[in-house]
Amino acid sequence: MKFDLDKLVRQNIKKMTPYSSARHEFAGEATVFLDANENSFGSPLAENYNRYPDPLQLKLKGKISHIKGVPVQNIFLGNGSDEAIDLLFRVFCNPGKDNVIILPPTYGMYEVCAEANDVQVKKVPLLPDFQPDLASIEEAVDVNTKMIFICSPNNPTGNSIRRNDIETLLNNFNGLVIIDEAYINYARQKTFISELTEYPNLVILQTLSKAWGLAGLRLGMAFAGQPVIDYLNKVKYPYNINTATQQLALEALNNISSVNNWTKTTVEQREWLITQLKQLVFVNKIYPSDANFILVKMENAKNIYEYLARVGIIVRDRSRVTLCEECLRITIGTPEENNQLVDALKTFTA
Ligand code: PMP
Repeated sequence: MKFDLDKLVRQNIKKMTPYSSARHEFAGEATVFLDANENSFGSPLAENYNRYPDPLQLKLKGKISHIKGVPVQNIFLGNGSDEAIDLLFRVFCNPGKDNVIILPPTYGMYEVCAEANDVQVKKVPLLPDFQPDLASIEEAVDVNTKMIFICSPNNPTGNSIRRNDIETLLNNFNGLVIIDEAYINYARQKTFISELTEYPNLVILQTLSKAWGLAGLRLGMAFAGQPVIDYLNKVKYPYNINTATQQLALEALNNISSVNNWTKTTVEQREWLITQLKQLVFVNKIYPSDANFILVKMENAKNIYEYLARVGIIVRDRSRVTLCEECLRITIGTPEENNQLVDALKTFTA
């Protein structure tokens, strides 16, 4: 069977006429803009905030294209990668009929978006080494399975998913394989971006929220074949990325060297923190991490979580998540913050 996007997409989405915004209909040079019912006098902020932003964010995409080596027509920008996740459901999954596969423990929004869109979630848990169970995934796939979500490096476990396994899925599954690479900058594994031309069913998600240090700006990226990108654009809100985000992201993307420095320090600190935590008697296991956090199995994790909160250090309690029993997820902080954490843990007594 061959991958056929026309069959995968919801027929109502395929048929619908997208909203055509004023700024979409006219994209040329002009001096008088009386087409979008904006306030022609100006804005209380900087000059251009009275105007609607570029609906397709072409300038920003041009810059991202240059950095990522992906043509502009293969890039979708969203209000965080969460927007792209939700749009994928809305474009490809018929409510009450279709299903998707997720590999828990994994990022929670795949399931939340599925439920909000009335799409069934088939859960195929990762194996104890947190790698995918390919045989069970194959069994779970049926004619209504539209997407498989793979988070690599995975949240909350921290590991990268084996490249061969992802390739097996890309080669054998006729729906979309979504690879969420939110934490790719911290990984030893390389991105799947170079495989985009190879696989029409590949969608890669990245974000400026992690290594780029811009979680507050809300800018997520999806990279895929142009037909997939065109469908996402067809359904998105006309002006989904505001002017401030477009301008600030453009400016921020000049700072690759700071990002590289932070990333390098984060990775060094991750290894330092692992060495330190290993020495604590109540730490039972630290899972290998390719991300900017580590998953740590502890004696009575909930107690330790509460103790840390009392001394002003907040980590993520994942102890009720299947396969993460007694685990805390700890984000790598600055060297000072990591020292504070280690000092606090050293004085913990059960
Ligand atoms: N994917 C993963 C794996 C994440 O952990 C997160 C944020 N925690 C996101 C996506 C969401 O990123 P954004 O801020 O771009 O919506």
